[in-house]
Amino acid sequence: MTAETERVAALDPAAEYVAAREEIDAAVARVLASGRYVGGPEIEGLEAEFAAFCGVPHAVAVSTGTDALRFALIAAGLPAGGEVVTSPFTFIGTTEAIHQAGGRAVFADILPDTFAIDPKQVAAALTPKTAAILPVHLYGHPADMDALQPPAGPRRIAVIEDACQAHGASLHGRMVGGMGTAGCFSFYPTKNLGACGEGGMVTTGDAALAARVRRLRDHGQSEKYLHAEEGYNGRLDAVQAAILRVKLKRLWDWNERRRAIAALYAERLARLEERGWLRRPSERPGVKHAWHLYAVRIPSEGRDAGADGRPSRRDQVRARLLGQGIETGIHYPVPLHRQPAYASLGLADGSFPESERAAREVLTLPMHPHLADRQAERVAQALAAALETA
Ligand SMILES: *Cc1c(COP(=O)(O)O)cnc(C)c1O
Repeated sequence: MTAETERVAALDPAAEYVAAREEIDAAVARVLASGRYVGGPEIEGLEAEFAAFCGVPHAVAVSTGTDALRFALIAAGLPAGGEVVTSPFTFIGTTEAIHQAGGRAVFADILPDTFAIDPKQVAAALTPKTAAILPVHLYGHPADMDALQPPAGPRRIAVIEDACQAHGASLHGRMVGGMGTAGCFSFYPTKNLGACGEGGMVTTGDAALAARVRRLRDHGQSEKYLHAEEGYNGRLDAVQAAILRVKLKRLWDWNERRRAIAALYAERLARLEERGWLRRPSERPGVKHAWHLYAVRIPSEGRDAGADGRPSRRDQVRARLLGQGIETGIHYPVPLHRQPAYASLGLADGSFPESERAAREVLTLPMHPHLADRQAERVAQALAAALETA
């Protein structure tokens, strides 16, 4: 292949394995020889190391990010039918967890610059049944946590952070996962910290909440075969924990590499923003972005996507990039309130205009720690050329 047609992958989890191969192979061999495949020292080691990374007293490893959210909500005391205010512009795992925990998702629209829930919209969505606020640090940019503190009152409203895309991000020096009642992380392979399988983590400063999550992940056991409550089979396995410990040591450097790529994109795309052809993602003052995804907005300038039968400008650009071997993504094309799964909520088009607009405009460019500068340069050049003619 020539440089012109070389494929540029949007994500590349195998490159992380290659970069740490000897250490990962040794860690996996260590677990396989130990006979401790569920629970044990690898889990405890990862929990201690991840808690230290986030600067929180407790971290509890679980099977997935969705279970991290579900267990954190239950452990925070979500009552049956309790309302959880969250974003409609996120992955469905966020709201699955709310409903599986017995709650009810109530949507609040997002801010156009950070894609995180708008504190004003959250305040307007609070009712006497609100039990929790669930901000999503989408793409790795922390939500406006200071403005999302629940109003003081007799009822406790928990703040559960969906940090599944934001390992290592911070706001005014405070790490995500340590700002709310609890933080929830996913170790899905393509996340900033990814397993070679599934995994998740709950972080918290609340010892009782951590203890309850430990119990919930393990069939509600308080001691062997004594079940204080019905729980779940929601444990992380030791092989994944051992792999994650190797990768966690590199996470800071890998996030720095993401920052460098984001800076390169920002510089090369500035000219396109000046022309009004796209909008680059922002990083608010005091924010350290984890750059899980680099999402640009490509507006269609009044030409409504699909309305006149023509694809949106964003979709045209995406197809053109793919034609040159450059993979991009759309996170996410349909906001949750417009998903068939939530049709029964009866939320029509126009209910959350910022989320709907974001769904029409966002395009995520290749972003992973092993993307080379010359690949990012090629993406920026191809994007400029595609916009020129779209
Ligand atoms: C990945 C993700 C989840 C779910 O994590 P899983 O480990 O796949 O269950 C939840 N919320 C957001 C925002 C995510 O990106």
